[in-house]
Amino acid sequence: MKFSNLPLSKEMLHNLNEIGYKEMTPIQAQSLPHILEGRDVIAQAKTGSGKTAAFGIGILSKLQVKKFRIQTLILCPTRELADQVAKELRMLARATHNVKILTLCGGTAFGPQLGSLRHGAHIIVGTPGRVLKHLKKETLSLEHMDTLVLDEADRMLDMGFSEEINEVLEFAPKERQTLLFSATYTDEILDISATLQKDAVNIKTTSTETTNKITEYFYEVEYGQKLNTLVNIFSNFKPENVIVFCNTKIEADEIANTLQKKNIDALAIHGDLEQYERNDVLVQFANKSATVLVATDVAARGLDIKELSMVVNYDIPHGEETYTHRIGRTGRAGAEGLAFTLYEASEIQNVNEYKNDTRIFEDATSLKVVNGFDMKPANVTLVIEGGKKDKVRAGDLLGALTGDAGLQGSSIGKIDIYERQSYVAIENSRIDEAYEKLKNGKIKGKKFSVWIL
Ligand code: ADP
Ligand code: MG
Repeated sequence: MKFSNLPLSKEMLHNLNEIGYKEMTPIQAQSLPHILEGRDVIAQAKTGSGKTAAFGIGILSKLQVKKFRIQTLILCPTRELADQVAKELRMLARATHNVKILTLCGGTAFGPQLGSLRHGAHIIVGTPGRVLKHLKKETLSLEHMDTLVLDEADRMLDMGFSEEINEVLEFAPKERQTLLFSATYTDEILDISATLQKDAVNIKTTSTETTNKITEYFYEVEYGQKLNTLVNIFSNFKPENVIVFCNTKIEADEIANTLQKKNIDALAIHGDLEQYERNDVLVQFANKSATVLVATDVAARGLDIKELSMVVNYDIPHGEETYTHRIGRTGRAGAEGLAFTLYEASEIQNVNEYKNDTRIFEDATSLKVVNGFDMKPANVTLVIEGGKKDKVRAGDLLGALTGDAGLQGSSIGKIDIYERQSYVAIENSRIDEAYEKLKNGKIKGKKFSVWIL
């Protein structure tokens, strides 16, 4: 659909044409009519689908440029993303004279931001922690704000920003339009929509991606060859992250230990672990600091991993229901999932009930043997001995890591804040730098012990 079908100003249409936006992307075509009507919208579309222009065009069409006051607040997870949004908005705003867009992000000096705020702005693009700081110091007022955008809301929640977002909103007028954009559509996103939005229009552009696509393999393995087969499956299919289900605690430990000896980074989780150990393991797996999780059924309960590329049943599950539940963790969000079940010839009876037209039965000897294979995680986890009790926030940690020519936001993964501890996932190659920054720097004016998990 063309932009000219929308009630946009001549200048805006001309500018869009100049920029080279000839047609609307699907997310723009579906969301813009509602956004322009002033409705609250919750929109899910994958990265690169043009979400910025979807809300950007909406905001700019509504903006009263002559009233020089803050009318829009856009919250983003990192400084880099805020900069990108501001850049795209400035391009879209070329048609309108004198639109002032200001970024307020952590990891940069506070002082110069005060100066810029004194000069005024129409649109603020910022990270939740820093925006909140300005609101608390009363250097920023949202009194005249009538539009709120949460961009990459899922990533903001992943980074532990939900509390700060809620606090920011205590400073905002209740009468407003709220637009929420996210690449994934989870229960947490729906929760935040329910608290922040009114009668929101739901838009998902990935309807074909909602059904799980899982390819199911069953491998017959010679006696005593399950571990070797497991390694061959990994090296042949190269999953990003895997859960291996087995039936006993002892088996879980054994499998994880043997995999580690084979240069495959694996952690075990089962009922014998202390609560804190269990938490350490789950956090590391979820934030991509571990690639293989070896688990018993009970231990894997409540595990919320959004993008799991492979599930392996090291033993035949006890029944179709357990089987479906286990493999249902892969193939989400449109990604292709892989499920493997291993069995020995003596177990043929038990595996027969699983036979159907779509499941693939093979002999494990058909897998190639790859020499020198290893699996290393993308991230490493830093633990900070400070949490909610110490009022540590995601923004504080991000600020400490990215401030003063520190790390890029893109090197920082999931942030999890618990009562007494916080976990930050750091890209492998940046771990030393991150550790030094946190160890030597202060968070909330205090020093905290920091260690690498
Ligand atoms: P998202 O936020 O969904 O990840 P972006 O808003 O960053 O995606 O847009 C991705 C790219 O698509 C950008 O380079 C943007 O300039 C471009 N783009 C956006 N809308 C259009 C359009 N209607 N036609 C052509 N390119 C577009
Ligand atoms: Mg975006």
